[in-house]
Order: sequence, then C-alpha cells, then structure tokens
Amino acid sequence: MASFTLQGIPVSRGITIGRAHLLRPAAMDVKHYLVAQEQVEAEVERLQRAIDTVQLDLQSIWSELPTDAPTELGAFLDVHALILSDPMVSEAPLDIIRTRHYNAEWALVTQVDVLSAQFDEIEDEYLRERKADIQQVAERVLKVLTGSADQLPRAVGVDEQNANMIVVAKDISPADMMQFRDVAFTGFVTDEGGTNSHTAIVSRSLGIPAVVGLGNASHLIRQDDWLIIDSDAGVVIVAPSPLLIEQYRQQQAVLLKARKKLGKLKKTPAISLDGIEVTLLANIELPEDAHAALEAGASGVGLFRSEFLFMGRTGVEQHLPSEEEQFLAYKQAVQTMKGRPVTIRTLDVGADKPLEHGEHNILNPALGLRAIRYCLKEPQIFLTQLRAILRASAFGTVHILIPMIAHAFEIDQSLAMIEQAKESLRIERIAFDENVQVGAMIEIPAAALSLPMFVKKLDFLSVGTNDLIQYTLAIDRADHEVAHLYNDTHPAILQLLSMTVSAAEKAAIPVAICGGMAGDIKLTRLLIGMGFRELSMPAALLPEIKQEILNTNIAALEPAVKKILRTYDPQVIQELLTEVREQRLLH
Ligand code: PEP
Ligand code: MG
Repeated sequence: MASFTLQGIPVSRGITIGRAHLLRPAAMDVKHYLVAQEQVEAEVERLQRAIDTVQLDLQSIWSELPTDAPTELGAFLDVHALILSDPMVSEAPLDIIRTRHYNAEWALVTQVDVLSAQFDEIEDEYLRERKADIQQVAERVLKVLTGSADQLPRAVGVDEQNANMIVVAKDISPADMMQFRDVAFTGFVTDEGGTNSHTAIVSRSLGIPAVVGLGNASHLIRQDDWLIIDSDAGVVIVAPSPLLIEQYRQQQAVLLKARKKLGKLKKTPAISLDGIEVTLLANIELPEDAHAALEAGASGVGLFRSEFLFMGRTGVEQHLPSEEEQFLAYKQAVQTMKGRPVTIRTLDVGADKPLEHGEHNILNPALGLRAIRYCLKEPQIFLTQLRAILRASAFGTVHILIPMIAHAFEIDQSLAMIEQAKESLRIERIAFDENVQVGAMIEIPAAALSLPMFVKKLDFLSVGTNDLIQYTLAIDRADHEVAHLYNDTHPAILQLLSMTVSAAEKAAIPVAICGGMAGDIKLTRLLIGMGFRELSMPAALLPEIKQEILNTNIAALEPAVKKILRTYDPQVIQELLTEVREQRLLH
C-alpha cells in the first residue's frame, strides 16, 4: 500500500508510531478491552465455543431446511459453514487473543477487517462479494458472544504488547476517551473535533499524541495500517516506509530525552530571569490525575473538571455520583496534593459534555442549559456537589470555581447555595474549611466586560480561554469546519485578557488562566508579559512552560506587549508576537 499523509489540527504534543485501531460504527461495533494474561485461555475458549455454536446452528438450519426451499439457500449455508471452518476465520482470531490479548469480539472483528481488506483487492467480482459472507458469519458469531456479555472479563491496564495502538475514529466522546485511559493506546486520530474540543483536552491531559479534524481519516485508514502521528505538525502519515519510521523513531527518542531532562526541573520554582515567580498549576479530570500533577511539579490543581465524574456512567454506576462518592473523589485529589490548593470546578455539563448519550436535543447546546445554568436549575444536584466539595476542604486547601457565569444574580445565587451547603454541614457538625475561597471562570465575553461585578463578590478569577474564544469569535470549539477561525491572538481576545488581568490586579485578587492558552508555549511570554502570574495546564505540558519562564525576562517584554495591545492589525500582532517569543527585544 502506498504511503500518504493527512493534515489535521494538532491538539497535543509529541510523536507516536503504531498500528491503526479503527473504532467502528453500528453493526460491528463491539466492546474493546484487553484481557489479563491469566484470562487469555478462557477468552480463547469463549470464542471457540461461539464458533462451535454457530457451526452447529448452521448444520441444524441446513438439516431442517424445508424440501421446497430454494437450492441456493442450502448452498449459501454451505458457504457459511466452509468460511467458518477456514483457519483464517476460525483460528486467526484465537491467535490474536493469545498474542495481543484482545477480547474475543475485538479479535474477531480485527481479523474480519484484515480479510475484508484482502477481498477488496481481488479482481474477480464474485470472489470479491464473498466479503459480505464473511461479515455475515462474523456477525453470527458476535451475536452468540454478546449473548453471554454478562460474563465478560473486565478490562485490564497497560499491556506492553499493545502499547502501540492508535485509535482512529470519526469522533470520540469525552466519556469514551475516559475509558481509553485504562488501555494502552498511544495515539488518537479523529475525523472531527477542534483544538479545544474535549477529546483534545483529554488527549493532552493524558500526554498522548493526537490529531483531530482530519476530515475522512477513518475511511482512508484501514485496520492495522501503520501510522505515524506527528502531533506538533498535526500530521498523520499512513503506511509510512521503514526508512521514514526509522527517522521518526529517532526524532521521538530526541523528544523523549528532552522531556526527561525537563523532569529535573520538577522542584525548581518557575521564577523569571528578573525574579518574578509564576505559579504553575495542573488541570485534572479525575482524582487519580493528581499524581501526574504532583509528578510534573505543579504548585496545585488549577482546574479539576469535576464533570468527568458524572459522565459516561453505565451499569450500577448509572445514577449521578452520590455525595459520598464525590466526597471520596475530591478528598483523594486533595490528599494527593498534600496541602497544595485544589481548585474544584463545579459541574460543567452540557454542550459537548453531555451527561447522557443523545442529549443533544436543542439547536444550540453551547448557548443552552450548561454549567452553572444547569446547576441552578437542579439545586439538589448542585447542593450535593457543594457539600461533597466542602467536606473535602477539611483535608487540605480547596477552592471552588463556578463555570459559565455571566450574570450578577448567578454569582449571588451560587454564593447563597454555598452558604446553604455550609449551614447544612454545620448543623450536622461535619468538618469543612469555613474560609474556602470561591471564584468564577471568566469564559463568557459578558463576564470579561463586566469584571467589577465579579471582583467585588469573589475571591479569585480563572480565565477559561477555550470558551472565551468560542463565544467571542462565535465559533463552535468542537467543529472542525470552523477550526481555522479559532484564533487565540485575535485582538478581541487579547483585549479581554488584558482587561481581566488589570481588573483583578486593581481589586488585588488572584487571576489564573486555565484554558488551553495557558499550556501553549508560543503564548507563555505574551501572557506573563500581560501580567498573568498563574497558569493552569495539563500536567504533561508544565515542565516546558516552566523552562520558558526560567528563560524569560518579564520586565523587558512589557513594551512589546503594550504595543501588541495597542494595535488591531493582525499582521503587526504576529510580528510583535514573534519578537516577544524570541525575546529579541532584550538584545
Ligand atoms: C475553558 O473553557 O477554557 C475551560 C478551561 O473549561 P473547559 O475547557 O472545560 O470548558
Ligand atoms: Mg469552559
């Protein structure tokens, strides 16, 4: 197969090389997980039993065929029985279970994909059409397998043999992304999505190379194709030559070495050349991510996206997490951070983070009942969460962060709810931190344009640049069709950021950035030059941002940053940004 290259939107860092694993829609859409070594033989047997069952079924259907049945029907059953006894169908998937530890369904579908691709290349039309027969046989086996779905072994963690699989899909929901955390995938490639879609955010937080918005990659890439993802360039190379693989392996090794070197900065505070300290915090999605935050040398958690505890719940977990479950999750993060602040954002569901699949029943979900709007409409859910967060505050330093606020009454109502949650805990004599700080996300332009309303009532601010850009520029952050309009250095964005940092400074309250801009090394100097002193980002990006700050003279940047804020000419902004980035002004 000839090699070809696909260009998409880079959303993460690094290089990965591996085999494509296609997430398939509908009929052949099966569960994917790895079985533990000790369960491999049982899994092989499970598939073998299913194959045997289908063989017996085919035989009994054949023997019970009515005498007047069309002769083709018998021939058809013969073909299916023959296919099923062919080692390429009946034995190869068993080998896949043994060597790759795939679950039975996944192994079967993988092999069917391989065979289908071979059939596609056959000249003879009749033979080519036998592909459909193979798929039908496979579907029969899958039906038998899924009929016993309750006894499936559970997914297991990272497995060396499978550590080079790259997920290729039309799109991956945030909830599905979370499931991949338990499996050893090393890259993500999707047709849809934008720079700050939640798929992108999760892949960044996992530190896994990913490219999104590739158009129709999932149709062009075939199961088991070799792929190279160069995340920095937003490029996916399909079926690369061995020489190219070797070149990228070398590049990968250089990057890994550089990353290792950065690891040595873990305990070094992020102090600029002119002695200004910048606080670097980590964004987390689940409590266990706090370990990576600590490992990366974060001074705390600047954004705990609590909604990930609420999404994609199935089976017994189907209901929303109880106060106790949430409390334990928040407490775990707080305790892991050992006294460092943990900023827990209250439930930010809706839009591209639906609580349930198929929740998109409104025209403009991003402008709909999201985040704080949802919480104020569902006070019981909000109060339960606030109690859980407050209870966790007894075990360290907790800050509460409210998302998507635009109105003064939303601030007032949120504060009143927090007071109500506190009062209920006081009555029950349950410990919590009375002085827990409360802040708001600045992520709607209206908020950035009415900061006095916020600074008066709140203890801190945190800028969510992902949504701020989405709402200011009126582009859907998850829509790859408008991804080219997602411009974080648009003058309007820079003005809003500058207004926010000035207002917070004037009111003497802390302001952080927790959106994607905080983890973009190309913007670090601009942001700290503007006055931001707290940046929260995926842990994997923290070390290189720290190094950038260690090499920056902030005072020397200020004149150029002022110039950037005075011009509305995008080209001049870009030129000045390059100067700032290279800090040529110093010399
Ligand atoms: C943001 O909007 O920038 C942000 C940090 O929140 P989220 O990406 O979860 O919407
Ligand atoms: Mg947001």
